[in-house]
This record gives sequence, C-alpha cells and structure tokens, in this order.
Amino acid sequence: IGERLYLGMDFGTSGARYAIIDKEGIIHSEGKKDYPLFLSDGSVDWVQSWKTTLFSLLEAIPITMRSLITSISIDGTSATTLILDRETGEALARPLLYNESCPDALPIVKSIAPSNHTVCSGSSTLCKLLSWWTSNPNHSNKQSAVLMHQADWLLWLLHGKIGVSDYNNALKVGYDPELESYPPWLKSQPYSCVLPTVQAPGTVIDTLKEEITTKLGFPKDCVVCTGTTDSIAAFLAARATQPGKAVTSLGSTLAIKLMSTTRIDDARFGVYSHRLDDKWLVGGASNTGGAVLRQLFSDEQLKELSKQIDPMEASSLDYYPLPTQGERFPIADPKMKPRLSPRPESDVAYLHGILESIARIEAKGYALLKDLGATEVEQVFTAGGGSKNDKWTRIRERVLGLPVSQALHTEAAYGAALLALRATL
Ligand code: ADP
Repeated sequence: IGERLYLGMDFGTSGARYAIIDKEGIIHSEGKKDYPLFLSDGSVDWVQSWKTTLFSLLEAIPITMRSLITSISIDGTSATTLILDRETGEALARPLLYNESCPDALPIVKSIAPSNHTVCSGSSTLCKLLSWWTSNPNHSNKQSAVLMHQADWLLWLLHGKIGVSDYNNALKVGYDPELESYPPWLKSQPYSCVLPTVQAPGTVIDTLKEEITTKLGFPKDCVVCTGTTDSIAAFLAARATQPGKAVTSLGSTLAIKLMSTTRIDDARFGVYSHRLDDKWLVGGASNTGGAVLRQLFSDEQLKELSKQIDPMEASSLDYYPLPTQGERFPIADPKMKPRLSPRPESDVAYLHGILESIARIEAKGYALLKDLGATEVEQVFTAGGGSKNDKWTRIRERVLGLPVSQALHTEAAYGAALLALRATL
C-alpha cells in the first residue's frame, strides 16, 4: 500500500536541504536546516554540526512520509575531506573544507601526478590527504585511516559500511572514472591504503541501519546509495542528461555544464569532465556573472531596467564584465582587466550592453568546449538568480542561436533524490 518515495539530501556551503520525490519526479516534501555551530577549541566542530543536521533533517520529514521512503542519497561539497579510523569511525583530524587550501602539499602532488591533472590544485582532496599524511607522525593512525568525502561520510552514518565513495566525489583525490580505478601513479604511493573504494553515483550500498529505521519509522528495506557532489546534483536536478543539453548557472559567477559523449580536460581553462553513466559532464566557470551586476545595480533596479530592454535589438556595446582582475574560462588570463566602459547615459542601454556581453562570454564558453572536443551544445537550461530575467534569456537565445529556458528544478537536493530513485530502477 502507498506510494514509493525517494529522499535526497544536499549538504551545501551554508546549510542542508532535503527533497522527497515520487517515481515521476514530483516533489512531495522539502525542508531546510542551517548548520548549528558547535565550537571546540574555538573553531567549528563540523563533524558534530553535520551529523546533527543530518538527523534533524530526517526528523523534519513528516512521519507518514518516512514509512514510504525506499531509497536515500546525499550530495556534499566537493573536496570536503574527512580522515577517519577504519575500525571506530572516529575522526583522526578535523574535516578540511571544500575551499581550504593545503599549498604545502601541492609541490609533492605535482611531482607525482601528470601535469595539469585536477589534483594539481591546493584545495584538491589529494593535497588535503597528503597534508595530513606528512604532518602526522603517528604510524598506527596512518595504517588504520580511511579517507571519506563529506557525502560519503554522511551516507556512512546511515548505512554503516565505512570507506565507500562515488566517482564524482573521488575525482579530486585522483580516481580515474574512465579506468574505474585509481591510476598507477597513485596506487604506488604509501598512503594509497587510505583511499576509499569507489562506486558509480547512485549505487545501492546497503539498507538503512536498523537502529535508525526503528527509531525514526523508515521501512526496514529502505536502501542507502552512493551520492555525488553538490554542483553535479544541481545539474542532475535540471534533467538535462542527453548529449548536447547544457545548464548555465547565472549566479554570482557564470558556470556552464554540458553533457558530452567525449571526455575533455584542460587545466589551463579549469575545464574538466565528470563521468555520468556512459557520458561526460564537462564544464567551465567564468568570473563574469551576477556579482558584477550587483556592484552596479540593486536587484530591484535590475528588474525595472530589464523591463525596458528590447531583447531583439543587438547592443553595440562590447564589455568584459569582471568583479576584479583575472579570468580563467573561456579566456585564461589572470591579468585580464574588467572592461565596462564607455558607459552610455541611459542605464537601460548600459545594462543591455552588459547582459549581452555576458551572453557573448557564455557563447564563447560553449564554443571553447566544442573546440576542445566536447559534443556541440543544442539546448541550454538556466539556473541561478539570472535565470529569472526573461529579457536576458531572450538576448541569450539570440546570441547563442539556441533554445534557452529556465530549468524546472535547480535544487541539488532534488538531484540527489533523482539519484536515489535511479539506484532502485
Ligand atoms: P549565488 O548563489 O551564486 O550567490 P544566485 O543564484 O543567488 O547567486 O544569484 C544572485 C545573482 O543574481 C546576483 O549576483 C544578482 O546580481 C543576480 N540577479 C538578481 N536578479 C537579477 C535579474 N533580475 N537579472 C539579472 N541578474 C539578477
């Protein structure tokens, strides 16, 4: 009796959300919790904070709905790293967050990894692992340690099988999703014993722990699946999973993600590919975007001025809007200067010129992905604050020469719920 439901949870940068869907993808319940900040020795105890948030999200789900949940998945911030004891599950160090950098480990990583590999960045999971390994004198600790990403760790709290990850989260520790294995240069390192085993995102790992099903009223056969990263979950939410479909995020920055049948990687432009089934999710991020708009106009002004723009008319103004100096994609130039002049008298014309210039950068981004060997873009869905601007959408359709529309769903928690659903099909 009753319908089967699927639970996705998103652990983002500022808080966590859940979404419950049915097999048609219709949302039955959603909720959000901010992270409670427990302090220990003056810094935030993230282990306590995330664990508390996980269980308060589960308790926030209406009781009648809990008993219908068939499958659970979670996404977390990419490269957020925990090192645990394999036997006890106890954290051997404080978690290292997605945006933390370990520059001390970078030269060592660069000396073992192929040049321009994704791990060659100070915030990569591999740099975090190495930083812990080299600074930790305790030998017995090292032998029993296991690395888990934030999502892996949260899922482990639910299923109890330690040391399991997915190949989206594991990309930045060096896992090769094409070979479905860690590469030889990594396997030969003494710390390779700390690396988690890796499954495809949305693979059933085990049933939900009995103590949780009993206490909170989930079904006994409810399963827990591998997850993914927050940005991939947000992409999955848009359901643009055919080659040629893409999602442009117009938030503070402009990020594009495209489904491709081929894998492309180019560290110069910060371009890399995540595996999704038998296809590749390729992407790049420009520093242009809403942050520049916010420096010039309030959101209210943006709305009012946009109303007066004729999107069919091409603007003759050619800008390169950046909040500060430096660009990476689609032009790799750390010294590039923002170009926002000449400023016309009319604010409507000024905004029109900026929106159109950002649209040209977006088009250039998709063109670069194609030049690097990705599938050509056919249709673009949009997420983020800029997606609400219909005039901008029309301008982008003209500049890109493609159908552009707002994505129906953009919440990462929704994408995680889709993973939970897919795992049971
Ligand atoms: P993020 O999560 O990356 O900070 P959001 O997705 O919340 O960003 O989007 C916020 C951005 O959207 C702001 O930088 C703002 O300039 C932009 N924005 C808000 N309203 C509009 C609008 N009507 N047209 C274009 N951009 C807008």
